[in-house]
Amino acid sequence: MTLPTWPDRVAPQHRVHVNRTLNLRTIKAIGYDMDYTLVGYQAAEWEERAYKYLKENLLDLGWGSPRFVALEFDAERVIRGLVVDQQLGNLLKVNRFAYIKQARHGLQEMPYEQLRAQYFGSPIDLTDPRFVQLDTLFSLSEGCVFAQLVDLFDSEGLPGVHDYHGIWQRVRKALDEAHIEGELKRDLLKDPDRYLVRDPLAARTLIEQKQAGKKLILITNSGWAFSRQVMALAYDDYLPGDMTWRDLFDVVIVSSRKPGFFTSNHRFFEVMDDAGDHLKPFSGELRSDAVYLGGDAAQLENLLGLSGDEILYVGDHIYGDVIVSKNLLQWRTCLILSEMDQEVAYLEAIVPIQAEVDRLMAMKQALEIQYDRLRSVDLLGDKGSVDEQDELRQRLLSIDAQLGEELRSMAGHSNPYWGPLMRAGADESLLADQVERYACVYASLVSALGVATPFHYFRSKRSMLPHDL
Ligand code: IMP
Ligand code: MG
Repeated sequence: MTLPTWPDRVAPQHRVHVNRTLNLRTIKAIGYDMDYTLVGYQAAEWEERAYKYLKENLLDLGWGSPRFVALEFDAERVIRGLVVDQQLGNLLKVNRFAYIKQARHGLQEMPYEQLRAQYFGSPIDLTDPRFVQLDTLFSLSEGCVFAQLVDLFDSEGLPGVHDYHGIWQRVRKALDEAHIEGELKRDLLKDPDRYLVRDPLAARTLIEQKQAGKKLILITNSGWAFSRQVMALAYDDYLPGDMTWRDLFDVVIVSSRKPGFFTSNHRFFEVMDDAGDHLKPFSGELRSDAVYLGGDAAQLENLLGLSGDEILYVGDHIYGDVIVSKNLLQWRTCLILSEMDQEVAYLEAIVPIQAEVDRLMAMKQALEIQYDRLRSVDLLGDKGSVDEQDELRQRLLSIDAQLGEELRSMAGHSNPYWGPLMRAGADESLLADQVERYACVYASLVSALGVATPFHYFRSKRSMLPHDL
């Protein structure tokens, strides 16, 4: 097998978006998450499968009403970054100041007045355990079923459940079980063409990074039995000669329990068999022909003799891969956001609409200033401008109507329930803010780093402040 060649032009899916300057030459080790990072999945297919097993686990609670049985997965129902309000049964889209910009109670859109009444127009306290963020594409199934069950609970109740919090707890447990029980992963391994998104350029990316002298490290929460099979399916066909994915990595760590891997101390074990059942306590030096389980990031740094700023970690979980590794260990970070393809397509599609919105907003602002001036003249007792004020009000109303139309047509290019990922109204979404703060760079595919080469100097754009010209 000869290695695939790099494309001549950087396609949108190979763009690396830069928040903070990152010189790959100073990076000595690159850590990789596996699921949804090194291994791409058809999220709609795999989450539909997870939903199936999640629902089966909920059936065991005696939730067998015809309406429950008829529920079906809808991959568009939730997007990454939404916040679940366990107390009120709502899904929330929040901006970077933690203000709610959109809300749904169950499946139903919440009118603005109700939203204000429930949250008092104040930012929400995201440290309150009542609020849970949907951090990865693995959350699509639980977010969807939660919204559906809130509606079901409101209309016919659910056996053994007294509140929305109870629904969320049961959904969480049922999804944990679905991921742990093994049937879900067995389905994937049996029919990889249906569930995997293979990227031949990812293999070349890793080879070149290794040849450039980087230590490559796999750090996954998946167990060894699954990891070795799925990595072989995703990589071995694209490697030259009899090379296998195992030859790419200097250290392989499975069942890493992120975010715990970054936040607390755990022992490393060596995995002694293919099933991953037989373990031996680890001591000595890390070997590339061994497989490790557990452990923690601080020990890993010591064993490698590296400091946080010499390690780049690449992962898809905004909290478990990126926020904690950056916050606690100051690792350099790359977030893999596979939705960026759609987000960029959305931005391209709305260019003419955005131009029209900007034009209307500029007109609106100018008319508002005129209107405000007339009103302030009024304050001095000069009532001569009443007709003029009326006319301006009418023009402003007509602009608002046009703006509404433009915004609706903009929304038609993104998720029908929640709009784009990175915007909440005109502001950055909470997710966009987290990406900006914690991900040094972000891209939709691992191979975007390969296209850039292992020597690239990523430079951030000059950031704009409101007063900048
Ligand atoms: P990683 O992304 O390579 O660290 O691996 C993620 C692992 O977590 C996969 O094995 C998933 O099946 C598993 N996983 C994802 N979501 C859940 C969950 O909600 N409960 C338990 N395991 C999960
Ligand atoms: Mg992952």
